[in-house]
Amino acid sequence: MRRQFVAGNWKMNTTLASARQLAGELAREIPQELPNVEVAVCPPFPYLTAVQEVIAGTGLQLGGQNAYFEAPGAFTGEVAVEMLLDVGCRYVILGHSERRHLLGETDEIINRKVRAALQKNLDVILCVGELLEERNAGRTEAVLDSQMKGSLAGVDAASLARVVIAYEPVWAIGTGVTATPEQAESAHLYLRKWVASQYNSEIADNLRILYGGSVKPDNAQSLLQQPNVDGALVGGASLKAEQFLPIVRAAEAVTAQKG
Ligand code: PEP
Repeated sequence: MRRQFVAGNWKMNTTLASARQLAGELAREIPQELPNVEVAVCPPFPYLTAVQEVIAGTGLQLGGQNAYFEAPGAFTGEVAVEMLLDVGCRYVILGHSERRHLLGETDEIINRKVRAALQKNLDVILCVGELLEERNAGRTEAVLDSQMKGSLAGVDAASLARVVIAYEPVWAIGTGVTATPEQAESAHLYLRKWVASQYNSEIADNLRILYGGSVKPDNAQSLLQQPNVDGALVGGASLKAEQFLPIVRAAEAVTAQKG
């Protein structure tokens, strides 16, 4: 059975003090690894080390929100995969819609980042998802197909085992509008079948596919209990322990049901 995974994307939020405090609140509630749910937090780069100091030895994993594809060198302003590993990251979020749509990252750039991370054994949370106009035009699956093909070009089956996919419909991110459980399940099923056809059914069965887009304590359970939803990538609600923790608990609760 796939283990649920809940990751908090803090985006460009928190201060050093509030990042430490939030990490401390989560660490107190999750002092050791939960049996059924993996939990990660992804703070801004400047706070990674401070957060790692707080969560070291607890049940929380650390992730970065981006990485560059080149080895360390003359790339002003960028952060290398090696640096994320050096400060204790297990994961990196790549292909987030804010990077695709606000910062102009193409599938080709994302693919170079994905391959660089996997080559260095940094696990990847790869985000894909359609715009509202693409959904309304009936193009959701075509968009997912092209993002998956582009982002995963040249990634072999062994490396794909280190990838978690996050289906994040762009119209649901930070908007308070959530995909219905049926919309999420349909996209996740499509993605799993896509992996089965491009790789194999064993890889597809083991692949974790998270839903992201305005996940909150009150909608988490109905989304997470869908058969192909294996967790959540949480933005806004990950900034408050009292909102993030109930989502983690919902993931634990659905594991018992799914089991
Ligand atoms: C995200 O940033 O990945 C996200 C899903 O944000 P939110 O939960 O705020 O919609």
